[in-house]
Amino acid sequence: MQKWRDNVRAVVPYVPGEQPNQPRMIKLNTNENPYPPSPRVEEALWQMDAQKLRLYPDPAAAELTEALARRYEVAPEQVFVGVGSDDVLALSFLTFFNGGKPILFPDITYSFYDVWAGLYRIPYCTRPLDEEFRLAEADYFGENGGIVLANPNAPTGLAMPLEGIRRILDHNRDVIVIVDEAYIDFGGESAVSLIPEYDNLLVVQTFSKSRSLAGVRIGFALGQPELICCLRDVKYSFNSYTMNAAAIKLGTAAVEDEAYFRETTGKIIATRERTKEELSKLGFLFPDSSSNFIFATHPQLPARKLFEALREEHIYVRYFDRPRIDSYLRITIGTDQEMDIFLAFVRDYAAKQNGS
Ligand code: PMP
Repeated sequence: MQKWRDNVRAVVPYVPGEQPNQPRMIKLNTNENPYPPSPRVEEALWQMDAQKLRLYPDPAAAELTEALARRYEVAPEQVFVGVGSDDVLALSFLTFFNGGKPILFPDITYSFYDVWAGLYRIPYCTRPLDEEFRLAEADYFGENGGIVLANPNAPTGLAMPLEGIRRILDHNRDVIVIVDEAYIDFGGESAVSLIPEYDNLLVVQTFSKSRSLAGVRIGFALGQPELICCLRDVKYSFNSYTMNAAAIKLGTAAVEDEAYFRETTGKIIATRERTKEELSKLGFLFPDSSSNFIFATHPQLPARKLFEALREEHIYVRYFDRPRIDSYLRITIGTDQEMDIFLAFVRDYAAKQNGS
């Protein structure tokens, strides 16, 4: 027997979306941005001095932290940066959810939350969303060890009003409430404005979606200085140099190009609204997305079959084989041209299914 197995941390890992590498493909499966990062990011890339890579990066990532502080009108002591928001969220679970009571999150949400809870042995309870994937605030009013909510939620795309978040915060002054705003730049109201009022609120965002930098891995948390200080202490007990020199430079360049950010997020929102109309015409049903994806089901077209048919054409969307959502596809918003190709395929597919 392999006795050493008794000493291994048993985990059920998160399964990331597939990253296919086809020369001609339409990739609508991992909520990336279809547009390139800001031209300022490319400029910063060319200006990077390879000689300097022999040095360790700034452990505080001050340049990026300060750029974010300016952008979100908070103090630099209120900003924590990490290697994608997955890193920030994982560290936040480790830092803030140690009370022994179950933490709460919806039954349908970002599927990494239960993985981190499992990894750190944090007890958790899920609260069911209703039939339309809406959250019942009162489900979060009882005693708990902390709360994590994605807003807009994933994979549904549905945003909850800020007043709902406020009421949840009001009922939970003694635990940390994490609001994961990975998709907030495409709709919904950010909870950043509530930070001055709530010392237990941590808002987490990412550069992977609205800033087109999924490949660089940058995420950040905003909160009152005491919370950020706790996160930094844990980070420095784990790995001082999480942010590499390139990420700091490129991330700073991206935050500083507000005009480009507005232009590209605006284009994605416009394409999303058009895609909603087209999907409705084809008979799809979906929660009203405030994100850069649409979570759609069709009463006559089984999701898995459509997913597979799309895949054969190198059009990738995401299918989750899980209870309650296995008849849905999560479709990331691409460029107008990509969505036209996707929609044309689906139109054709639906016509063939009707004919057969
Ligand atoms: N939160 C949610 C809700 C997400 O969908 C994702 C993307 N998988 C993340 C966080 C993590 O994104 P990243 O680590 O790229 O910042």
